[in-house]
Amino acid sequence: MDSFTLVIVSALASTIMAATMYLLHRASRRTPCLLDWSAAGLCFLASNALALLAMHVQLPFLLAPGIANVFYIGGHYMILAGVRRHLGLRPRYDWLAVLALMVLLLHVTGFAHGPVASRLIMLTPFVAGINASVVWLLARQQERAMRDSYLPLLVVEAAFMTQMTLRAVFLALGQPVQLTFLGSQIWQTGGSLAVLAFLSLATMCCALIVIRHQELALRSASLTDSLTGWLNRRALLDMAEREFQRHRRSGDALHFLTFDIDHFKAINDQFGHAAGDAAIRHVTNVSAQALRGYDARFRIGGEEFAVLITGDGNFQTRQIGERLRLLIESTPLLIDGQRLTLTVSLGVAGCQPDDLQWDEALRRADQALYHAKRHGRNRLSVYGEDLLPPSLARLA
Ligand code: GH3
Ligand code: MG
Ligand code: MG
Repeated sequence: MDSFTLVIVSALASTIMAATMYLLHRASRRTPCLLDWSAAGLCFLASNALALLAMHVQLPFLLAPGIANVFYIGGHYMILAGVRRHLGLRPRYDWLAVLALMVLLLHVTGFAHGPVASRLIMLTPFVAGINASVVWLLARQQERAMRDSYLPLLVVEAAFMTQMTLRAVFLALGQPVQLTFLGSQIWQTGGSLAVLAFLSLATMCCALIVIRHQELALRSASLTDSLTGWLNRRALLDMAEREFQRHRRSGDALHFLTFDIDHFKAINDQFGHAAGDAAIRHVTNVSAQALRGYDARFRIGGEEFAVLITGDGNFQTRQIGERLRLLIESTPLLIDGQRLTLTVSLGVAGCQPDDLQWDEALRRADQALYHAKRHGRNRLSVYGEDLLPPSLARLA
């Protein structure tokens, strides 16, 4: 294939990358890494446009290949910047400025004045270094749900880095005799085809990452309560079923701790609904301090909450509940300049060997909670201790 056609096709692939990433960004405003990846496409396009122009008119050396190579490195770097941003790191455009300056200096100082092959060898450490950074960042991601979507981009970047390095080695050492049948242009043509494949595949891989990320964000939003950030009742159905099955297999204890704000209606009536919402948020924020990081917490009703306690018995679950109760009682809420003391009533129940469904235990925890309400509120009742099952209660 002649180099003119190759550059035209590469320019087309760059345009498709820039447009796809930009349109995806328009469709979902909250994903700024798409703008970095769109800018990557624009950089590759600018590099190709300069190369194309240089085929027809004599351009100053600093412009083509100088600036054209800066754009080429910039394109690779903007993919890295987007990956960094997606992973919650700063994109570090300052590093791009340093790289661009270095590439430009190589062209100004005459290091780059030589055959095309020597410039390719010169650019290889820059490109391979950027590719390697992307591979390294993606390879060390632990989040299971996202890892599958990182793999394609990781492979594409690693493959491009490998071909670029091999090409530089062959160009430096000279083409091996066995490969002369490929023609003297093969390393340049191969390189252009590699760029073409890279641009097309990288576009798809970046889109895949964003789509997967958004799918997970939607899923997480559907399981999260927007007022408190705690999980919602739907999430409880999923998680409790999973934990119940684990409890049946392993025999490890599984407890439900439920609680409800006392006289909550009065807050709504006296201070308004917004104050009621603030009270709910206050209770979840304070209770979080009494829970351990791994205790799954849910808002299962207006001002009713549940915590799944795995691996601990009645005694420890009661201790956690008491800690939570005391913390809420001793941390007043400020509303309209008034210090308001909130209290909660709590119920505890564990799964029992003859339970067929996890919600039998939740129902018992609720009965214990209402036992606590009936006996004066701001207290905790454990099913089987403070509140006896009907069969034992009759005996007693
Ligand atoms: P008790 O001590 O028996 O629990 O009395 P209570 O007043 O807290 O009674 P109850 O638990 O039945 O109160 C529930 C009230 O919570 C009824 C409803 O108006 C209010 N509520 C439910 N969801 C929300 C919410 O999201 N925000 C606000 N502000 N109020 C809510
Ligand atoms: Mg209540
Ligand atoms: Mg209630």
